Amino acid sequence: MIASNVSYLCPVCGYPGLEEPPYDEVGCSSFGVCPSCGTQFGYDDATSAHADLRKLWISKGMLWWSKAQASPSGWDPVKQLQAVEKRINI
Ligand SMILES: [Zn+2]
Repeated sequence: MIASNVSYLCPVCGYPGLEEPPYDEVGCSSFGVCPSCGTQFGYDDATSAHADLRKLWISKGMLWWSKAQASPSGWDPVKQLQAVEKRINI
């Protein structure tokens, strides 16, 4: 079965609505940008660890990054972060 509405979790902020995986199965980055935290995969995370990018985003107040895409209704960065922290077990 092919899921047509697959979305992916941002490894930095936990945003669950990425349209393409940040990294494919062979580890190539998508160069997509997370609309939530603004991380560009393969660029920003080439020089900084995801945990560091996460801390930076938190220190800036966990703001929705994208100007082109509105945040989902009821968007909750704290809840989102809990999901990613649980997943990567930091
Ligand atoms: Zn993100």
